[in-house]
Amino acid sequence: MTVVTRFAPSPTGRLHLGHAYAAIRAHDHARRAGGRFLLRIEDIDGTRSREDHVAGILADLAWLGLAWDGPVVRQSTRLPAYAAALDRLRADRLLYPCFCTRADIAASASAPHHGPDGPVYPGTCRRLDAGVAAERVAAGVPHAWRLAMDAAFAAAGPLGWIDRDAGPQRAEPLAFGDVVLARKDAPASYHLAVTVDDAAQGVTDVVRGRDLMRATDVHRLLQGLLGLPTPVYLHHPLLVGADGERLAKRNGAAALADRRAAGEDGAALARSLRAGQGAPGAPPIGFAPDNA
Ligand code: GLU
Repeated sequence: MTVVTRFAPSPTGRLHLGHAYAAIRAHDHARRAGGRFLLRIEDIDGTRSREDHVAGILADLAWLGLAWDGPVVRQSTRLPAYAAALDRLRADRLLYPCFCTRADIAASASAPHHGPDGPVYPGTCRRLDAGVAAERVAAGVPHAWRLAMDAAFAAAGPLGWIDRDAGPQRAEPLAFGDVVLARKDAPASYHLAVTVDDAAQGVTDVVRGRDLMRATDVHRLLQGLLGLPTPVYLHHPLLVGADGERLAKRNGAAALADRRAAGEDGAALARSLRAGQGAPGAPPIGFAPDNA
């Protein structure tokens, strides 16, 4: 079977070294196996995605010497596929509409329980009368669609997945609570879109950072519910700077675009990242410990 990997950035900001490392890992994984490396733009969030960031991503990858195979897939063109998946889950009675605002959710739980994605939804709208909820949906009251997690987990039965580094994993999505699968302001959430797309694109090996390790429990559950194949996963360690902080845009890591504009050699940077080092002459980088 041909190995297929993908790099799936969200064009909501400029790429930094951590993204470069993730792209290199997915690219090299495919190339070593004589497989295919795909590029998917996760532009499902219409309010935060920007065309200049899409152009920047393509330029950054070319600068690093990473060529992708086939057309670039954009999630904004895949809405019917997400709608079909939502219809199926709705028909299985595993989704419910949620009318809560962030403020409602904050007010309803004095000590919110935290899951891997942040505060766990307290389930307010799940207790709404089904007729009342349907009327509000029909009347166009803004709403998200949430997965009834415990019912979904029970319906799917025990599920596992394999991580090439960490070994066999048991999917334990209950800790996420009733995750949002369609947002008020976006027709699908990250969890739904990524699961549907990895299957549609025939991705065999999902190579991505360890920050998404537990999200795979939710993706595995959705695969079970939607009858989709399960890829093998490889969650790679996350790059940290000399100060031990993750190299993320929020802590001021230089964007790849700035380095590109300054005339740095992208291929040399990629070689140095492959060797587990930062840019030549720049402060060293390392990897976050497993539990980071
Ligand atoms: N779009 C996600 C991000 O930019 C990554 C998705 C994935 O690799 O599963 O963080």
